[in-house]
Amino acid sequence: MTTKVNMDKLKSVRNRFEEVGIDGMVITSRSNRRYMTNFTGSAGIVIISEREAKLLTDSRYEEQAGEQAVNYEVVLYKRSVEELAEHVEKMGIKKLGIEKDYMTYGEYLQYRDKINVELVPLSGVIERLREIKSEEEINTIREAAKITDKAFTHIVELIRPGLAEKQVANELEYIMRKEGATSSGSDTIVASGYRSALPHGVASEKTIEKGEMVTLDFGAYYNGYRSDMTRTVAVGDPGEKLREVYQIVLEALNRGLSGIKPGLSTKEVDALPRDFIKAKGYGEYFGHGAGHGIGLDIHENPFFSTTGNNVVQAGMVVTVEPGIYLPGIGGVRIEDDILITDNGIEVLTHSPKELLVL
Ligand code: ZN
Ligand code: ZN
Repeated sequence: MTTKVNMDKLKSVRNRFEEVGIDGMVITSRSNRRYMTNFTGSAGIVIISEREAKLLTDSRYEEQAGEQAVNYEVVLYKRSVEELAEHVEKMGIKKLGIEKDYMTYGEYLQYRDKINVELVPLSGVIERLREIKSEEEINTIREAAKITDKAFTHIVELIRPGLAEKQVANELEYIMRKEGATSSGSDTIVASGYRSALPHGVASEKTIEKGEMVTLDFGAYYNGYRSDMTRTVAVGDPGEKLREVYQIVLEALNRGLSGIKPGLSTKEVDALPRDFIKAKGYGEYFGHGAGHGIGLDIHENPFFSTTGNNVVQAGMVVTVEPGIYLPGIGGVRIEDDILITDNGIEVLTHSPKELLVL
């Protein structure tokens, strides 16, 4: 299984060599490295030429790399650019693609000075391949989403006035680990009351008060893959305004979920929830994109935005996450993870979406 998948991925990358003007490529992004090789270690560089594929890593990972990186020649090295240069030259590469988004300027200068070939800065080559998930990847994300749902079921039993946001976040993370996650998939957001108007309000010392909305945006990191779900709950009656906003966001999400399908551009998808929120007069309070891909990274291709022109395809796993944020008052965001299928979607996160008043 792994053997074939690794070969297919190598073939797909090599198929793009001509188009991007290279005859070899080094991969320095951790997620791209893992995607291409299956190697889960924390250090290593991949070199791919027309004929060869090498994984350079250090002696700590000798055995692990050999087992995981099927179809790659595993080479132990001392992490110097000189050694990398030697391999690039030995492999006969003349135009070397480098991942410009995953390299410091210092590293670039070393590459430029020590690797005696033409460097071709590239962006998104492996990321494009990662957009369409394999059955195995989908199953892993499905598991990550299940863990997230379990954590939500548990946390709504626990949230009450007087708890600090951080206590809620800690509990969410504890439950996810207990249910099999390695860690949380991203910074856990617990934002209550006026802080729920902050789209990225990482849990603070603030205490949750009666009558507040609490936004919980969290996910599990499971076997290398991530889930990403948001639910907003009320602790006591949040008042008419926020109840209204909640229903608008929920309807916006439903419009996104029912409208998204293969063939739409990412800006058309973005417009599905956004147009509804605009029509209700809250357009200016929805300041972020309507969703993004998830996988090895918490935010990856495709990105839904007002300007995106990528195309949605079956096999993509994405979030849909409309929100309305009223400064000083509070906010609501609801986010699901979905798989795009040939004829629509499969929702992967199943936690309830009707307003829960705790
Ligand atoms: Zn999220
Ligand atoms: Zn998200």
